[in-house]
Amino acid sequence: MSYAKGVYQRSNLERVFIVFYLPLVIVGYGVYKCHELVVQLGWVHDVRSFFFLDKHPAFWYGLGYTALVCFIAGKVVVQGKSPYKKGKNPALSRYQRAKFTSIFVAQLLFFFLLPFVIIPWLKGQDLFYDPVAPTTLDAYVYVSKAFTSWGGIFYVFGLVPLSVWFFGKRYCSWFCACGNLAETIGVTSWGKNWVKHKTPTSPRAKKTEPLQTLLLILGLAYGFVLFFDMLKLFTAESLLLAGKYYQDIAVDYIFGALVGVGAYPFLGTRVWCRFGCPLAKGMELFGRYAGSKFEVVANENCKGLNLCSQACPMGIDVAQYAHKDKTPIQGSFGLNQTLCIGCGGCIDICPKDALSFKPINKIVTPNRIE
Ligand code: SF4
Ligand code: SF4
Ligand code: SF4
Repeated sequence: MSYAKGVYQRSNLERVFIVFYLPLVIVGYGVYKCHELVVQLGWVHDVRSFFFLDKHPAFWYGLGYTALVCFIAGKVVVQGKSPYKKGKNPALSRYQRAKFTSIFVAQLLFFFLLPFVIIPWLKGQDLFYDPVAPTTLDAYVYVSKAFTSWGGIFYVFGLVPLSVWFFGKRYCSWFCACGNLAETIGVTSWGKNWVKHKTPTSPRAKKTEPLQTLLLILGLAYGFVLFFDMLKLFTAESLLLAGKYYQDIAVDYIFGALVGVGAYPFLGTRVWCRFGCPLAKGMELFGRYAGSKFEVVANENCKGLNLCSQACPMGIDVAQYAHKDKTPIQGSFGLNQTLCIGCGGCIDICPKDALSFKPINKIVTPNRIE
C-alpha cells in the first residue's frame, strides 16, 4: 500500500513552531506522566512542587487539552465549513457536524468536567481539592480500568464491542479522548498537511502495524494480573509494580505521548492509534471476526483523483477500493480489511461524491478487492 504524497515545504512559522513543540511535549508530558517517579527517585522531594495554583499537573494538562480540542471542534461546527473539501465555502456535512459536536461534548463533559469538576463536587469536595479524581491519573487507562473495576470491564468488553458492531471504529474518531486531539489537529491547516504528506503509507509501515497486536497481548497479560489481584486470587506486588512502570514509562509516556503526539508533524496524527493502541487492535479483531455492520463504499462517480487516500489519517489507500486505472470499480471496505476509524475524511474530500458510509449487507459490492 503506497501512493503519491507530493512534496511538502513547511513554512518558516511551522518550523519555528516545531522547534518549540518538541521540548514542550517532552517536558509537559514528562511532568504529567512521570512526576511521581521523579519524587520516588529522590530528584524532587515534594510532589507538590509540580502543582500550580495548588492544582495537580493532570488538571492543567486536562484543561489545556480540552480547551484546544473544544476550540477547534467548536470552530468547525460554528463556521459550518467542511475542513476537508476545497472551494470557497464548502458546507459542513451532517456527518461531520455530528462528529465534531460529539468530539466537543465528549471532551468537555466526559474527559474534563466529569473527572475534574462533577465527581469532586458530588463527593462534596472543593473545586480546588487535590489530588484530583483518580480517574485521570492512571496511565494506560484502558488496560487499568478494563481489568480493575466492573464498570470498566462492562465498558471495554461490552459497550465498545457493541459500538463496533453498529458503527465500526467510529469510537476513535467521535469519542475517544486521545482520538479527539488527533481528529481536531488533523483538520487544522498544518494538521491536514501532516496527515496528507507525513502519514506512513509504505509497505514497511504496513508491516509495522502488527506491533499493536504485541501491545494488545502484553496489555491483556498485565490486565489479567490486575484482574486476579482485584479478585484477591493472586497477588504479586513486584509484578504489578513492574507492569505499572512499563505502562507508564514505555507505553504511555514514550510511545503514546512522545511518539504518538510528538510525532504529529512527522508521522501524521494517528501513529499511536495505528501502531500502538491495544483497544484499537481489540476493536479491529472484533470487527473482523465477530462482526461490524459498518463499511465505506465507492460508486461509479470515481475519477481516480486519489484525494481520498491522501486524506486518510490511518494510511489506508482508499482509492484502491474506488478505482483501478481511473475506472470505477465500486469496491467497499470495513473492519474486515482495514483499520478504518470512520472519520469520514475520505468521503468529504472526494469532489465527485464517489464515497459514502453504508451498513454492511445492505449494499452490493460487485468488485470488492480482497
Ligand atoms: S485507536 Fe485507541 S487511542 Fe486512538 S482513538 Fe481509538 S481507542 Fe483512542
Ligand atoms: S473516490 Fe473520489 S477522491 Fe477517491 S479516487 Fe475516486 S474520485 Fe478521487
Ligand atoms: S478510510 Fe476514510 S473514513 Fe476510514 S479512516 Fe480513512 S479517511 Fe477516515
